[in-house]
This record gives sequence, C-alpha cells and structure tokens, in this order.
Amino acid sequence: MPQKIAAGNWKMNGTLEAVPEAGAIAAASGAVETILCPPATLIGPLTLAAQGTDLRIGGQSCHPAASGAHTGDISAAMLADAGATYCITGHSERRADHGESDDDVRAQTEAAWAAGLRAILCIGETLEQREAGETLDVLTAQLEGSLPGGATEENTIIAYEPVWAIGTGKVASPDQVAEVHDALRDHVGPEMSLLYGGSVKAGNAAELFALTNVDGALVGGASLKAADFVPIVEALA
Ligand code: PGA
Repeated sequence: MPQKIAAGNWKMNGTLEAVPEAGAIAAASGAVETILCPPATLIGPLTLAAQGTDLRIGGQSCHPAASGAHTGDISAAMLADAGATYCITGHSERRADHGESDDDVRAQTEAAWAAGLRAILCIGETLEQREAGETLDVLTAQLEGSLPGGATEENTIIAYEPVWAIGTGKVASPDQVAEVHDALRDHVGPEMSLLYGGSVKAGNAAELFALTNVDGALVGGASLKAADFVPIVEALA
C-alpha cells in the first residue's frame, strides 16, 4: 500500500509569526505522514517547532550542485542541515518562473536523494494542453524526463498538479484526477505515493482521497493555517 501523505507548500508565504500555525499542525500530525514545506528562511524555525512530533519539514526546491558560486540558491545538503527531510522538485511555478526543464528537475531530484531527502516531484499540464487533448502525453513526457532512474517509494513521491487548478479555486474533477492517477500508477508501480495538488480544501479533500490511486495531497493556500490544513490531514487519516 502506498503511504498516505498530506503535504503543505507554503510557497513564498510566512514569516516568524507563522511558526505557531506549524506548531498547531504538528500537534495534529501522526495519523498520516504530514509535511510542511515553508520558505527556506523558516525551515530552521519550523524544524524546532516540529521537534518531538511527527510533522516533517521540506524545502521547495534545491540547486543540483552541493555548494559553490550560485548566488541566491540553496543546496539539498543545506536544506537537510537546516532540518528538512523532504524537498519539492519540479513545481510548475519553478518550471515557469525559473525556466526549470525536465533535465533540471531530474538533477535536483538526484541532488535531493544524495542529501538524504525524499523528493516530492511535481508534474502537471496547462489548460491549453488539456484542451488540446494532450494531458496524458504531456504528463508521461514530464515523468519520463524528470524522474531519475532509481526512484523508489522510499525516495520519491509524485504530485500531479494541473497548472490550471493551482491557486485558482478550480479543482480538477474526480474523473479527471482518477484518469491521470490511474495512468500514473501504471508507470510508477503499486507502492509509490501519488498526490493530487491544485485548490485542495477541506471541502473537496474527502472526495479526492476516496479515489483509488490518490494517496494524499500537496496543498498550497489551504496549508498556511492550521484551521484549514488540519481538516485535510484528518480527511486522509
Ligand atoms: P493551491 O496550490 O493548493 O494553492 O492551489 C497547490 C500547489 O501549488 O502545490
């Protein structure tokens, strides 16, 4: 059985004032693997807030190199040093804002593994690609291009995040999610966790989690407050 996972992606949100929210989320974690990926500035403080609980902390991206002349970047080893045990790779906002290609995502995922981090590798189609009937082809190409050889359920989680559903309030329908996740299951085998992401909220989580090949969610906006995120974690448990 794939592990059930509730992961929160805080994106570029949160200052030290947000640490108590993580503390409240930490207090509610345990029934399923619960992860928060805050901005890098909060990895240390959230690691401290999560100490002694089952909440795990992750980075949102990493540079493929271990160290060096890369101003503004952070290596996977640095994330691990600050307390992270996970790292998101290939989020569509990184692919779009920073021009990250499948090759870059593969290198980052390998770097995350080398630092002992478990990767949460994201793939997703745009609205244009969906409307052109290209969804499964696009996702297969992204997966084949960005998932390194050697991926296992121990070192990798896949997150399907349709770009048109992220931060828009437009959640993909259960039929749309099921079609993609069933196809992904065929690619990655029976044990790797498959998360859905894109406008997941307490009100739609249970319906998504009821789908056979949905093992959890990667949640953006609704992971910032414990009052929003804890009910999603509970719906998965
Ligand atoms: P959202 O973001 O839940 O705010 O739509 C999801 C994500 O980008 O991981």
